[in-house]
Amino acid sequence: MPNRFCAICGKEIDSSAPHYGMCLDCYLKENPLFVLKDSFSINICLDCFSYSKKQDWYEPEVKDKFYLLEEALERFILKPYLKNDNVFFEMQFDEENFEYSSKDLLKTLNVKIIGRLKENPRIKHTEEIRININYELCDNCQKIRGGSYYTAIIQLRVNSEEDLDIINNILKDIEQYTEKLFEKEPRHFISQIKDQTNGIDLYLSTNELMNYLITFLNNKYHFLLKRSKKLVGRDNQKGKNVYRLKASIKVLPINKGDTLLINNKEYLVDTVLKNKIVLKDKKGEKITKNYQFFFSADYRKLS
Ligand SMILES: [Zn+2]
Ligand SMILES: [Zn+2]
Repeated sequence: MPNRFCAICGKEIDSSAPHYGMCLDCYLKENPLFVLKDSFSINICLDCFSYSKKQDWYEPEVKDKFYLLEEALERFILKPYLKNDNVFFEMQFDEENFEYSSKDLLKTLNVKIIGRLKENPRIKHTEEIRININYELCDNCQKIRGGSYYTAIIQLRVNSEEDLDIINNILKDIEQYTEKLFEKEPRHFISQIKDQTNGIDLYLSTNELMNYLITFLNNKYHFLLKRSKKLVGRDNQKGKNVYRLKASIKVLPINKGDTLLINNKEYLVDTVLKNKIVLKDKKGEKITKNYQFFFSADYRKLS
């Protein structure tokens, strides 16, 4: 084959050149693998490392600033190239060009984005982008810091002060459960706990959390549940009414094997079912009472 020369720079080219009339370098200058704007702005939440470009906040997979920036660049500017799946990217942050705010927060930095063609990694392209970071609080962290945000309330009650111990146990369980959930999904949290006569009120950040907690408690405790909702306004953006949900939970501090005194007669708790209790008197005769009975009638726990 006769020697060929690059039409642009005149360099001799061989048969491996990507174009019949151009050397690799000139070809890549004419046909870059990707083209990016030279700057990029992003908002990062001061409390939780979520990031956003406009309104939506995204939780990074790893709570690390550089991992987060890579994820954000992929999501916001490299997506069309990643979709085509023919280029793979590498990002390099160079500490020399980091600039910090007076509060020691990283404000601007450069990232070098190197893309290589998958089928021929010799074909590559590099762009350098200036990243500007704004720090603020994401919507969820604003709610958490505000401390008064809630969409649902659980009212936990017992019949009398003597049974408040069980409320304390339930609260411990609820807090443990919610903390674990919060680590995975930070939108679920308890924003306030208020003491009430014979119980507590829990103010919850989501309606789902209320339902999760009810299911969770159902596996361990016996209670009467009443749900209600109150119209508190209208979300004009979504065109929907906004309700505040309430779950009233009256806890029955009775377990299998307890001895109860009802109308001066002793009963042994034989079985606790989902909504009723089977009692056995001293002669071995069984009677059944629904949960409601124990909130309206006088009874005493002997053991
Ligand atoms: Zn050339
Ligand atoms: Zn946040």
